[in-house]
Parts: sequence; C-alpha cells; structure tokens
Amino acid sequence: MGINPFDVAKKQIDIVAEEMGLDANLTKYLKRIERSLIVSIPIVMDDGDLEIFEGYRIHHSTVRGPGKGGIRYSPEVTLDEVKALATWMTWKCSLLNLPLGGAKGGVCVDPRQLSKKELERLTRRYTSEIINFIGPDIDIPAPDVNTNAQIMSWMMDVYSMQKGRSVPGVVTGKPVEIGGSVGREPATGMGLYYVIEAMCEKLNFDLKSQTIVIQGFGNVGGTIAEFLYKEGCKTIAVSDISGALYSPEGLDIEKLLEWTKKGNYLKDYKDKNYSLITNEEILTTKCDILIPAALENQITQKNANNIRCKIILEGANGPVTTEADNILFSKGIYVIPDILANGGGVCVSYFEYVQDIRAYFWELDRINKELKKILLKAFEEVYALSKERKIKLRTAAYIIAVSRIAKAIELRGIFP
Ligand code: GLU
Repeated sequence: MGINPFDVAKKQIDIVAEEMGLDANLTKYLKRIERSLIVSIPIVMDDGDLEIFEGYRIHHSTVRGPGKGGIRYSPEVTLDEVKALATWMTWKCSLLNLPLGGAKGGVCVDPRQLSKKELERLTRRYTSEIINFIGPDIDIPAPDVNTNAQIMSWMMDVYSMQKGRSVPGVVTGKPVEIGGSVGREPATGMGLYYVIEAMCEKLNFDLKSQTIVIQGFGNVGGTIAEFLYKEGCKTIAVSDISGALYSPEGLDIEKLLEWTKKGNYLKDYKDKNYSLITNEEILTTKCDILIPAALENQITQKNANNIRCKIILEGANGPVTTEADNILFSKGIYVIPDILANGGGVCVSYFEYVQDIRAYFWELDRINKELKKILLKAFEEVYALSKERKIKLRTAAYIIAVSRIAKAIELRGIFP
C-alpha cells in the first residue's frame, strides 16, 4: 500500500492544530470534507467498445467563498487523493487571502491512451455529470496534472450549452480567445520564480550561482525551468515520466522544451554530455535548489535522508510527506511549501475569474504585478512567522491559512 495523501493532509492539520492550540472541535471540523461527488463516465471508444471511467469532484471547504481547484486526469487518481488535493486548495486560497474555498476534481484515466475525440467525449460527459456541483458562485475548476486550456474550453462549452448562455466564469485556465486570462498558463512557474528569488534574497544566496534540479517537465516544471534558464541559472537535472537527464555543466532547457513540446520523451533526447538517470536518482542528486514539480509523496522517510540540497521549492502539491518534512527540517533544509510556492496558478485563476465576471480584461503587466504583490505578501508573512516561532515554513504557512478559515467558521457559526 502506498501512502494515502488524505492521511498526510489530516496529519498536517493535527500538527498545526497542536502548534496553534486550536480548539478540538475546530480541528475536527477542518478535517471534514463538505461534499464528495463520485461519477461514472461511460464513453464509446473510437473502436465502438464501451469503457467506464470513474470521476470525482470534491468540495473541502466553501466557508470563505466558492470552491476552487483543478481537475486532473491520471490512472493514479483516487477519491482520497482528490480529497487531499481539495484540502490543500483550501489552505492555498486562504494563505493568499483569496475569497475562495478549496475543491478538486479528477478522473481515473490515462489520457495518453485516448484519441483526441475520446478525450473530448470524456471531458464533456464528466462535465455534464458534475454540472450541478460547479458554477461561478459554487465551484470553479481549472487545469491540473494532464489537463489544459483545450479541456477547459470543452468544460466551459458544456456548461454554457446547458445554461443557454455563455458562462466563461465557470472554469479558469481557458484560452484567452474565450475569456481566459493572459499570463495564466505560465502563472504557477512565474510564482515559483518570485518565491525562490525572495527566499534567496532572505538567505543571502545569489540565485544565479545556485545549481538546480527539477523533477517534472510539464506546465509547472517546464515553465520554472525556462524562467530560471532565461535568468542565467544552471539546471543540472530535469525529469519527465520517462526518466531524467543530468549534466553537471547544466542543461540547455530551451532545446529540451522544444523537444518535449513536440511530444517526445526526455529519455530519447540525444546529447553526449547528458547522462540518463532514474526518477528516484534525480531527487537525491546533489544541488542547491530541488524543485519537485510532478506528483505527491515523492520525498518520503525512505529517501529524505539522502536528499542533498539547501532549499526544496514545492512545485507539485504534496510532494513531501510529514515524516520526510521532519527529517528535512532536522537536516537544516528549507522547504518552501506547496501552498505558498505553487500558489501563482490559482492566484491568476482568481484574476481570470474576476475578469470574466466583470467582462473587463487586464494587461499582462497588471497580472504579473498583482501576482507578485500577493505572493510576496504571503511569503513575507510566512517567513516572518517561521523565524519568530522557529518553526518550519510549512507550519507557519498553515498557521496563517488555518487561522483565517477558523475565524470564518467561528464568525459564521455551524448551521443550523
Ligand atoms: N491546479 C492548480 C493548483 O493546484 C490550479 C488551481 C486553480 O487554478 O484553480 O493550484
């Protein structure tokens, strides 16, 4: 049995509850999932066979506003994984002080095995199954692992067709032509960049002379790799699901992105100066900044002792387990938690939602300025609290996020 991410999420609540001296009833309440929807998605495949897929949409908390969170397509998706991811979205939106709650969705499917038409049918049927669960003032989905702007377009179309009018604010991460926001696609990577830059400044590290390792080369990993490359930083290893490339001299990220954007795997890239290492080896490669930007539970008590870096910047959601977090802390490794580090995506999703509702669109410059302002404000608060109390950055981030939720619950009271 692998690690259950929802157990990790609940354990994190216990840790922060103890640190804050949170009331036991509130702690119990925070572990509660508001709503879980499980749907069965029947799809007629291109060859005429019927396949049934399982999908989920979870609302962890809408106490501070409508649910917000991505939808992932992956064969590893489980109900408990989506519950954990929805819970993390609650903390993320709260930490950034966005007027949104936490939600998440997923379909247990390997999208690489589907044709484009099958993918479209799956998305349309899934949207139709969850239609009463979503909406601009209920819950606003967005892209996550293996989903993208095209998938959001189909979702927006199904919802709009059912409502009899165009409703762009039902999902974010759409193409700009149909109400998407400029700057949304690179937003998570952009945010990671702002945060690591701020962290290096605090620690008096020169970002350009740090060696970097990135696990994951999709929208999040690929974008942060590109920003760092353009700034002249040296990334010595990157990975995708096929394996990892390593070069102590630094990788040519632009060429690698060109290669993977054509649908190729990193393992098939040929360069005599690069060696092929495994997805396990990449995590323990000696470097200054390690960016896990793939999936949850990558750094566990099994490999935490072998991690050799100064800072971990969590691009993915939940890549470090609670046991590993303690080991890393005792080794003096700074872990910049997911709910802060990768918050750029949901932040610009929020801007997209606001623009859709007001039907007034912003320039890229305004998006990036406001994104930076929100992320750096959260970063400063988290950093200051962690220094003041001598606690992990994660615990500090959770204290801030959970306090806001707890206050909202207290003010609203428990119905009836
Ligand atoms: N899936 C992204 C996340 O985990 C973005 C969610 C959103 O934009 O709503 O933060």
